[in-house]
Amino acid sequence: MGKVLVIGAGGVGTVVVHKMASLPGVFTEIMLASRTKAKCDAIAAKIGGGRVQTAQVDADDVPQLVKLIRTFNPDIVVNVALPYQDLHIMDACLETGVAYLDTANYEPLDEAKYEYSWQWAYIDRFKKAGLTAILGCGFDPGVTSVYTAYAAKHHFDELHYLDIVDCNAGDHGKPFATNFNPEINIREVTQNGKYWEDGKWITTKPHEIHRPVNYPNIGPKESYVIYHEELESLVKNYPTLKRARFWMTFGQEYLTHLRVIQNIGMAGIIPIMYEGREIVPIQFLKAVLPNPGDLGENYTGQTSIGCRIRGLKDGKEKTYYVFNNCSHEAAYAETGTQGVSYTTGVPAAIGAMMYLQGLWKKPGVFNVEEFDPDPFMAELNKLGLPWVEQHNVDIEL
Ligand code: NDP
Repeated sequence: MGKVLVIGAGGVGTVVVHKMASLPGVFTEIMLASRTKAKCDAIAAKIGGGRVQTAQVDADDVPQLVKLIRTFNPDIVVNVALPYQDLHIMDACLETGVAYLDTANYEPLDEAKYEYSWQWAYIDRFKKAGLTAILGCGFDPGVTSVYTAYAAKHHFDELHYLDIVDCNAGDHGKPFATNFNPEINIREVTQNGKYWEDGKWITTKPHEIHRPVNYPNIGPKESYVIYHEELESLVKNYPTLKRARFWMTFGQEYLTHLRVIQNIGMAGIIPIMYEGREIVPIQFLKAVLPNPGDLGENYTGQTSIGCRIRGLKDGKEKTYYVFNNCSHEAAYAETGTQGVSYTTGVPAAIGAMMYLQGLWKKPGVFNVEEFDPDPFMAELNKLGLPWVEQHNVDIEL
């Protein structure tokens, strides 16, 4: 059906190409390109069968990207490198006339700032070029946004309260590790909290609001309100929302490590001089922390991520909870990576599939809730991330 170029050979990229390679009817040709070609080659060799071609690319270099895209001639580029590369890859897609998909919104290198403004500024250019850009197609953002669209389409006339709840109850046996790129992860969880209420954003100190929340098959876990990027597009696309929050679980041990890392300056993003050369503390920290893509082997337990919604249906208030639980062991058995890479990579592959099948294809730049959620939800059930719905239950929040 179509050719796909995947950029970024990390934990998420590993899962994306594994899934794509298992769907030859959809992904007829796959190329994996990254800064370090050896990583692409290792992933391609593990998949075998000559299914995945590889290439080296610096995705911050637009002419290099353009050359690679022109040579391989894909129908869509799936960006699972880092958020810093988003705009460069979008520029290259515009220049070559190819569709674009990513899993995380653009961030400037020198400021941990999460907003869609930079990428939404491309709307007219993608529209004029007749090209599709699909933003935020991982799990959160991604599946959580599609869950919300599905709830709005099938179960509510008006959404009033949205709580996205993200629990990782897994144990990787390391004293401290992050489940996806450490630099991006630490920047995200150390920023101020922020949520939407009564038409405005409320800012909190980091981890200021917290309470135990019960997760299915897991039990109660202390959960913290943090800012997460899908809230920005969801409150815009569902203006009836009176409140929208994002909750994430953290263990005490993780928070203690994080506090120390911050207190000693290792989470810094401003370059410092070290032995005559510039280094960025958080990038140095990444180099000494465990590689998230390698955590899978002894990872036990599961993740549970979902949306808890309160709103109106036929004039009556109702509640709705939709979620997925994903086992780290099952993810590792299938793809050699842990559950967080898995829950991000599978939706990215499904998003690319939606595009190639012509189901999510329109000119412009879109967040995933702006497409029909039904075919995507159907594929989640088939491709390893089945979801469960509960109606009129106690959603606690
Ligand atoms: P990793 O750090 O494991 O992988 C990132 C890969 O991108 C690395 O292989 C790296 O290459 C490559 N890369 C970085 N810079 C460049 C560049 N300039 N040119 C080419 N390749 C580059 O990260 P993850 O796999 O954990 O995460 C990937 C993305 O997924 C991130 O953007 C993250 O924010 C996002 N994510 C989204 C989630 C969601 O639910 N929406 C959840 C989790 C992650 P090298 O190894 O050579 O440095």
